Amino acid sequence: MTPSDIEFDRRHIWHPYTSMTQPLPCYPVTSAHGCELHLEDGRQLVDGMSSWWAAIHGYNHPALNHAVTQQLSSMSHVMFGGITHPSAVALCQRLVNITPEDLECVFLADSGSVAVEVAMKMALQYWHARGEKRQRFLTLSNGYHGDTFGAMSVCDPKNSMHSLYQGYLPEHLFAPAPQCAFGDEWNEMDFVPFARLLSAHHQDIAAVILEPIVQGAGGMRFYHPRYLKLVRAACERHGILLIADEIATGFGRTGKLFACEHAGIAPDILCLGKAITGGYMTLSATIATRNVAETISNGEAGCFMHGPTFMGNPLACATAVASLDILASGEWKTQVAAIERQLQQELLPLNDHPQVKQARVLGAIGVVETHKAVNMANLQRYFVEQGVWVRPFGKLIYLMPPYIISAEQLTKLTRAVSTALDQAEHFLE
Ligand code: PMP
Repeated sequence: MTPSDIEFDRRHIWHPYTSMTQPLPCYPVTSAHGCELHLEDGRQLVDGMSSWWAAIHGYNHPALNHAVTQQLSSMSHVMFGGITHPSAVALCQRLVNITPEDLECVFLADSGSVAVEVAMKMALQYWHARGEKRQRFLTLSNGYHGDTFGAMSVCDPKNSMHSLYQGYLPEHLFAPAPQCAFGDEWNEMDFVPFARLLSAHHQDIAAVILEPIVQGAGGMRFYHPRYLKLVRAACERHGILLIADEIATGFGRTGKLFACEHAGIAPDILCLGKAITGGYMTLSATIATRNVAETISNGEAGCFMHGPTFMGNPLACATAVASLDILASGEWKTQVAAIERQLQQELLPLNDHPQVKQARVLGAIGVVETHKAVNMANLQRYFVEQGVWVRPFGKLIYLMPPYIISAEQLTKLTRAVSTALDQAEHFLE
């Protein structure tokens, strides 16, 4: 890319959560292989982000490349209305097989946020079909579910600046975020506020929506499985639907194929995305029980009112099939367990560092929460100089590498994180 390309990017292209007037520098990447991103200037960076939880098998994977090119040679896309195709069927068969038994009816869409919109619309249509007006959702503070309006309405109100959209955004119910951490001793008091909210409002609540076990973009918090178990039981008692947003946690990241397995529970509606295609392209799946699907279909509308143009895109489905076939070998379990052990050894000692509020690890996720917010420009530059790609936000420096990362590559990442803590210029005052 020429300097004028970079200048064009600066002036004309929005980047995620980035100012159009004072953008931080963007690093041109020209290719990516295995666990490394190759910068245009020749530097190679060990990837600690899996492109936001997605590239679990690493970049340029031969089996995924093969799946894309095979599919491309027959068709890249065909509409899904009145048409089906082998890759969609193969994908949905696998999804139905690997998710809890009652989850049977798969809705394919374009992105994680849309999967959440679909799940919320399913819950609303379910109650409408049952002749009840239930329009509220109960969720957790510090949650994150996406950037579209429905999804944003159940994101943490402070983190996602609900104040900006007041009057436009539906107002839902927020229980305090769980305090009892994964691995802590369970404290019954932790569930009391949620139970009270549910009891007080259960007749208005269409569904509870939450991220099971790991609250991702809303704080990288790991909570106690017992909390999730009690949510499931409480929803059951009141006949309320439970939506599990496993868009970030799905496909092995937390050490289980799905985070709900830590609590041994199954939701009524499950949202999947991100790693579903191994990070190759955008695709999501919202999987409902047959009861939910049939209730909706027997209602006034006669069908679920949603149908994206690129629903069931064959390229994405074929890639997802290949990604799930890699996961089916089971090797991810050993890989994620090894990453977890190494992250524990190399990050948990940072709990003694004066800059660190808490270092924590679950599965292939390592988090260093600092006392002060990071200085993004300085810290990002430092990481690139150290030959790693780590993208912190707020007070969170975190690692979630591709499962195929080597021990040496992972050490390079953890060493960069720990040495970064020693320089005051990496933090805001
Ligand atoms: N839910 C969760 C838990 C997420 O982490 C994300 C993305 N960070 C989303 C939903 C939204 O997904 P997308 O960015 O693909 O719309």
